[in-house]
Amino acid sequence: MNKDLLEAAYNSEDFRKRGHQLIELMTDHLKNTLQEKNNKVIDWELPGEALQNWQSFLNHGSAEQLFLKVLQSTTHIHHPRYMGHQVSPSIPIGALSNLIGGLLNNGMAVYEMGTAPTAMERIVTDWLCEKIGFAKEARGFLTSGGTLANLTALITARNMKVKDSWDDGNNQPLGIMVSEEAHYCVNRAAKIMGLGEQGIIKVPVTQQWSLDTEQLENYLADAKSKGIHVFAIVGSAPTTATGIFDDLEALSHFAQKHDLWFHVDGAHGGAGVLSSAYKHTVAGIDLADSVVIDGHKMMMMPTLTTALLYKNGLDSHATFSQKADYLLEQSESEDEDWYNMAKRTFECTKTMMSLHWFSILKFYGEEIFDAFVTRLYDLGSEFAAMIDRNPFLELAVKPQSNIVCFRLVRPDMTEQALNELNLAIRKQLLEAGRFYIVQTKLKGIVYLRTTVMNPFTQTTHFQQLLKAVEHLGTKLT
Ligand SMILES: *Cc1c(COP(=O)(O)O)cnc(C)c1O
Repeated sequence: MNKDLLEAAYNSEDFRKRGHQLIELMTDHLKNTLQEKNNKVIDWELPGEALQNWQSFLNHGSAEQLFLKVLQSTTHIHHPRYMGHQVSPSIPIGALSNLIGGLLNNGMAVYEMGTAPTAMERIVTDWLCEKIGFAKEARGFLTSGGTLANLTALITARNMKVKDSWDDGNNQPLGIMVSEEAHYCVNRAAKIMGLGEQGIIKVPVTQQWSLDTEQLENYLADAKSKGIHVFAIVGSAPTTATGIFDDLEALSHFAQKHDLWFHVDGAHGGAGVLSSAYKHTVAGIDLADSVVIDGHKMMMMPTLTTALLYKNGLDSHATFSQKADYLLEQSESEDEDWYNMAKRTFECTKTMMSLHWFSILKFYGEEIFDAFVTRLYDLGSEFAAMIDRNPFLELAVKPQSNIVCFRLVRPDMTEQALNELNLAIRKQLLEAGRFYIVQTKLKGIVYLRTTVMNPFTQTTHFQQLLKAVEHLGTKLT
């Protein structure tokens, strides 16, 4: 064994020195990115080029240059011209809580493997339950991402609504109802649970892109006629592609009428419960049996942390066990065992993610979440209004959040040609790297998709982006 190597790697004075250097680098990076001194949002290279670069760096580069090189050559979410996928520019205190969690490395599966973060997790999830409007029997936990949280909630739903399915498996065809515009992870969860394609009952959306509640009864009746036992319905708050919210009150009403589990996928917009101006977007969220809210989307946290919250906390103990003992407990008791997290989470080991939630609350108070969500949703409306005024641009739908989809249009071009043009525009934007936006296809039409994630993005950035889009439109036709 090379004992010297281990000693060098764990040398605490080395850590101090490198740590100070790294904080200096990160601080400069943060400042330069927020203030646009770094001109590029993304330093685009083809995957193969990046692979070669990093392979060659591993073989020949200097370790002293590693952190600087990463800072310089990847995607910069703190840039005000970043308007791409829905990940937060992480709040600096979150970078620090990530750092301390990275060193302490508490495994979290049982209380003894993370006493402080377990208590913090209870506090922050209780706080979120209260903000949702749940009563005191509500309980939640944190888990690794919206994808895993949605799967976990649907497993709970099945165990609560289809007795003995945990032990016996699916011995009848089962199904869930969901908007055709829901995030793909709901589809994936259903497939993992063995529901098959027929078990994902996709309800169409209205012209305004929210689940068409008038069609619910028909779709349920149709599923029943095929012998499918539908046990859950998922509401999107909002859907990922368009950022439009389902009518959660109507979905809850339908769920109650038919004894379905009502799950709200609020990965993006669940944080709206914290916005005084936009709370109405999630009206009815308190009627859900379970709710997912991502910390790393609209709550400024570093990836990856998601809250899964249950209206009745005891239900969460049914996810991975069919034993009825827990369910028989009427209220909080010594047996509730909230503190051994792995009994309820998909993960065994997980990161000390509660540190992020707790730190932000402690340093800045819950008002900061209101400020963040409200500012970004306001910016979404402002941007959409600018697009709407431009005769060569077309909104997919008037936004209800910070997700704004639009395209360049030309009266003389076919839909096919417009699709190709908008794809080409987005490709050139990516390659130039001055902006980062994405694209989506809605009912066959290609749109440029933006999510305003940076509270320091301003009118001038929107103007610059629209000008760039128009300029490329002219150049490419
Ligand atoms: C982002 C998103 C997800 C997936 O969450 P991850 O944290 O990326 O796993 C699920 N549902 C919706 C509506 C989302 O926007």
